[in-house]
Amino acid sequence: MTTLDFQPDEAFAHKLDEADPLRAFRGRFHIPLQDSGEPVIYYCGNSLGLMPKAAREVVTQELEDWAKLAVDGHFKGKTPWYTYHEVFREPMAKIVGGLPHEVVMMNTLTVNLHLMMVTFYQPTDTRDKILMEAPAFPSDTYAIKTHLQTRGLNPSDALLVIQPRAGEETIRSEDIEAMLDEQGDSIALVLLAGVNFYTGQCLDMKGMTELAHCRGCKVGFDLAHAAGNVPLKLHDWNVDFACWCTYKYLNGGPGSVAGCFIHETHAKNIDLPRYGGWWGNDPETRFKMHTIPEFIARPDADGWQISNPPVLSLAPLQASLALFNEAGMDRLCEKSLTLTGYLRWLIEQHRSEIFEIITPPEVASHGCQLSILVHDHPRKRHEALRAAGVICDFREPNVIRVAPTPLYNTFHEAWTFADILSRQIGE
Ligand SMILES: *Cc1c(COP(=O)(O)O)cnc(C)c1O
Repeated sequence: MTTLDFQPDEAFAHKLDEADPLRAFRGRFHIPLQDSGEPVIYYCGNSLGLMPKAAREVVTQELEDWAKLAVDGHFKGKTPWYTYHEVFREPMAKIVGGLPHEVVMMNTLTVNLHLMMVTFYQPTDTRDKILMEAPAFPSDTYAIKTHLQTRGLNPSDALLVIQPRAGEETIRSEDIEAMLDEQGDSIALVLLAGVNFYTGQCLDMKGMTELAHCRGCKVGFDLAHAAGNVPLKLHDWNVDFACWCTYKYLNGGPGSVAGCFIHETHAKNIDLPRYGGWWGNDPETRFKMHTIPEFIARPDADGWQISNPPVLSLAPLQASLALFNEAGMDRLCEKSLTLTGYLRWLIEQHRSEIFEIITPPEVASHGCQLSILVHDHPRKRHEALRAAGVICDFREPNVIRVAPTPLYNTFHEAWTFADILSRQIGE
């Protein structure tokens, strides 16, 4: 469906919902209620996804196994804890376009960024820089800067940052290309966000990877805002590594365990430098410490694990990934484009002197998030949205982020949101 087909009336929104093949998935999530008893319009799935109803059962199952089996839960639990991370491989690999042995669930996102830099950032005398973008999520900036310092490098020399041009909000691929042309020979690692947390811009990850590889750089992506949101083909794109959290679009629950992708060309290489721990070791020799005390990495993404899987923080993700598997990323992305396109179209019908969408409009350049730059009283307007039952967030200095997600948001919510924005708070 294109913008030409959209109509502004409320009945049209209902029609879109009736025709939505994914509409039943909403019923499988807990949706917070307003004081009035009406469900909120939850547009914060880019920050913390809603709780799948089935999550309670999976977590309870683990608690039951702990109560009844104690240490035997490692092998006799419903999902044995010893290999708990393995059940996520296939469904997670499908979502990011990796092969199952290229994907592992471990730690949290920023920790994984550090671990990936340990392996993939190998500075030499002539090639020692990291290239990232602005605005980046604070944790990524802190991680990269402190990581450089622990390697004895000064971030003011070793960190290159691509900025939006003056008067623009999003970065241009051609500026990254120009930077790689000029300085590529000195760049060891290109580390970019697949989808930017602030603007919602989705980069051409395939194109960036090719360009960076041509210059001899390694390429990693932070997919916090991309995993479960936009189509990804990490294996085919030859991305060296990627990291993502699972509590945003992937609905894994607060602080849930993060994902990590390591392309098989590297994952198989057990000689790559890394921080080892018993779970990254070959299980065959894991307990033979007295005869084989050396660390022998597993020849796949699991070889980067350090500790045994945190079962209770992984459990809810089983419920969510089952829903992703059932819905399928193709159908989710298709609905997402229509839903976000419809919301954009509705917003742009009204009050353009106050509200300006800075998320790029091109189909391949965004996921579900729209970042709305508010020209006056941004904070007050955000508070008014909250008061009207919309859960969305505010990012300094003047951006309201809204993320209609295809799994649980409706077209009628988009209509209602635009109505509130234009009529109630647009004055
Ligand atoms: C959400 C997010 C994080 C969060 O990091 P944690 O280690 O999970 O706390 C980091 N980077 C980006 C780009 C994010 O969007």
